[in-house]
Order: sequence, then C-alpha cells, then structure tokens
Amino acid sequence: MVNFVGAGPGAVDLITVRGKELLEQADVIIYAGSLVNPELLDCKKKECEVYNSAYMTLEEVLDVIRKAEEDGKMTVRLHTGDPCLYGAVREQMDALDEMGVSYEVCPGVSSFCGAAAALHAEYTLPDVSQSVIITRMAGRTPVPEKEEIAGLAAHQATMVIFLSTGMLGKLQERLMEGGYAPDTEAAIVYKATWPDEKVFRCTVSTLAETAQENQITKTALIVVGKVLGSGYNRSELYNPAFSTEFRKAKE
Ligand code: SAH
Repeated sequence: MVNFVGAGPGAVDLITVRGKELLEQADVIIYAGSLVNPELLDCKKKECEVYNSAYMTLEEVLDVIRKAEEDGKMTVRLHTGDPCLYGAVREQMDALDEMGVSYEVCPGVSSFCGAAAALHAEYTLPDVSQSVIITRMAGRTPVPEKEEIAGLAAHQATMVIFLSTGMLGKLQERLMEGGYAPDTEAAIVYKATWPDEKVFRCTVSTLAETAQENQITKTALIVVGKVLGSGYNRSELYNPAFSTEFRKAKE
C-alpha cells in the first residue's frame, strides 16, 4: 500500500492530522527533499527506511516501492504542498496501477494557500476577482501555447505563479503585454510558512528588481492582481440587507 501525502507548504505543523498519522505508521518514506521540511520526518518509526527523491529517478522511486510491497510494507510518498500541483504524481499512480499496487492520496495545504496567509490576502474579492489562475512560466517543462502568460493575464484575474522565480524579467513583460497595468499590485512570497518566510510587496513592473534586490532566486510564489490592493465591495453573504438559506435579511 502506498500513500501519497501532501506535506504542506513548510511549517512542520501544517501537515494534516491524517498525513501525520500516515508518517507515524510508515515503514518506508520517500520524501521530496528539495522542498519538504525534514523536521516532518522526526515522527517516523525508528525502523522506517527514508529516501530523498531529490536524488532519485522515477524508476528508482518505483523500485523502492516495489521492494516495499514485496515485503508487505506501507510506503508514504511525501510531496510538498498538495500533491495535485506540479507534483509528478500522475506518472507514479499510473505505474502503480500497472504494477497492481493500491494507493491513496492524502491532500495537503498548498503553498499558494500559505502565501495568501502570509499576505493576509483573499484571492477572491467581490467585484475585483472571482477566479484564481495557477500557472507557471515554461522552463525545462514546457507550457502549452494556449496557456502563455500573456493570454492568461488578459483575464486580469488573481494569478499565482509557481516555479518562475528565475524568470521574473520575462514574466513581468508577459504580464504587462497581456494587459496588467504596470502599477498593478504584486507580491513575492519566499518560503511561505517556513521560519525564514519573507514577503515582498511590489508592482507588476517591479517584480524582477524586487527579487534581485532581495536575492530571491527560488522557493517563491508570485502573486499578481488587484486583490492585493485596497478596493473591493463587501460580501453579500454577510450583508444585513441580504437573505440567505440560513438567515433572514434585517429590515
Ligand atoms: N505541490 C506544491 C508545488 C510544487 S512545485 C504545492 O502545492 O505548493 C514547487 C514550487 O512551488 C516552487 O518552485 C515554488 O514556486 C513553490 N513553493 C513551494 N513551497 C513554497 C513555499 N513554502 N513558499 C513559496 N513558494 C513555494
């Protein structure tokens, strides 16, 4: 049995209760060492085998799982944030299907939620944006042409951009090409929820210089959109003049 577990964004107490219990029970843990907080492994069983997937290929990960299955062991595959985003889990699940190995997924707090917490932001504000676009710049992993940043930026919705800290010059150009005004609010959140978290507020046109001045080159998210500004309308849900399923409007 394999459990894919979301480790959360970094802080050791931001894994789910279920995720922690699975870590405590695991006979084998394969963790994404580049971004998973190693303190999460402190709760493992003494005899638990631990592998850092940063040094492994998919095939090597599968070999460890295969061997564990032969020995009747439970494996936790620990991914940063939530496994569903940029986690390379699908290829593992498909391989496990082929091997006839059963698995489950335990969700985690994604770093884009950790970044909102750090910013005290709500990504969906009435009359400002009701959508969040999660994307990345193309790197060694290509991005389909239809998802080019400029095209997505045309929506002027809230954007959270992963895996792109090394390309901020290009990113800000594309965002402005797509229609964001240069002075649109933006932020760089470095290591959200980790003890050394850093938040830099800037504008779309100053993303690259802000990162450079503060020597941020990786492990950061870029958040863009007017939800980081001050204008919005209050919600109807909590408006006294508005009835809901649970509450009658006040006269
Ligand atoms: N599955 C993860 C994302 C993995 S991709 C999730 O749900 O968060 C790795 C990228 O995520 C990093 O390059 C960075 O852009 C972002 N990231 C992960 N953890 C982060 C954190 N604590 N703070 C800021 N960005 C983070």
